[in-house]
Amino acid sequence: MQKGSLPTKNQFGFYEVRLESIGGLGANVAGKIIAEAGIVGMGFNGSNFASYGSEKKGTPVSSYIRYCDHNQQVRINSPIIEPHILGIFHENLVARLPITAGVNSMATIVINTDKKPLQAREYLKLSGGKVVVIDALKIAYEEKVKMNVVMIGAITRVMEFIDKDAMREAIKETLGKKYHNQLEANLRGFEAGYDLLELDEFEEDGRFPFIPFQEQRSQWGYENAPIGGIIVEVGNSIVKNNQTSRQGKIPLFHEDRCIHCGMCETTCPDYCFKFIDKEDDKTSKILMFNLGLDYQFCKGCLRCVDVCPVEALTEELEAEHEVEKITVKL
Ligand code: SF4
Ligand code: SF4
Repeated sequence: MQKGSLPTKNQFGFYEVRLESIGGLGANVAGKIIAEAGIVGMGFNGSNFASYGSEKKGTPVSSYIRYCDHNQQVRINSPIIEPHILGIFHENLVARLPITAGVNSMATIVINTDKKPLQAREYLKLSGGKVVVIDALKIAYEEKVKMNVVMIGAITRVMEFIDKDAMREAIKETLGKKYHNQLEANLRGFEAGYDLLELDEFEEDGRFPFIPFQEQRSQWGYENAPIGGIIVEVGNSIVKNNQTSRQGKIPLFHEDRCIHCGMCETTCPDYCFKFIDKEDDKTSKILMFNLGLDYQFCKGCLRCVDVCPVEALTEELEAEHEVEKITVKL
């Protein structure tokens, strides 16, 4: 029995939600929970699936949820390109992927950020629409849970037509069995996401143009792909940027505590640290000195923090530091 009705539908009769994230933040599970609340809890018909590349932390993940009336069949299984709600789990994704393309001013964007709605709108370069901000990572850090439950809380509040209790039941069903000891903390994270969001609505004032969705086509196809194993761009690693792999935490370098032992450099899988040769004041010998690290290449694994013998590297929340200012370019 369907409870309530969908607030709006597209031309195919669907209300659609898309989640954009990176592997490790729980967007895939969040998509399943949100779909289950609407389908099992509220009696709508619908579907959910996710797309991702290699199954490892840090790679882009998208999850798609469709709802329709209980008497409509679901005959579409393509990715959602014009969602009614876009959930952005990691704001740095915007720098790398055109995830807001196709999101028009009728849509609501729910973004995990410490920015205010106006700042988020500028950052996303949105033509208009509703922007909901929630500092999901900070809440998750405090509650010691994954940030996906916080995002589910904020999205539930925005969707309105899904009962909060139906979503709580879906969380209990999915997370309660697997992580029973953390269920209360997960539900607290959900409630915090529901309560602590900030929302603002922006007219299409011409500040930013609407960017229509364009299918991304690979430069290489079966007709022009080079023979496997050849790196065609020499030195291509210089343009790599690992910042989207970080899950809200960074190593912070304290030069005054550093004894320049090199443990961090030998441990870091991405060679982020910058050491220089310098004459030692006391011995007049030429020694290696650590100047810090280049955050462009840092994926936030925090192994360097673990190995530093004198706490010259500490684990910190990225949102509390301006990495551009503290980065030491390699
Ligand atoms: S491990 Fe710590 S003390 Fe050693 S060089 Fe790195 S930051 Fe300095
Ligand atoms: S957290 Fe430390 S070890 Fe890991 S990539 Fe960054 S600098 Fe390297």
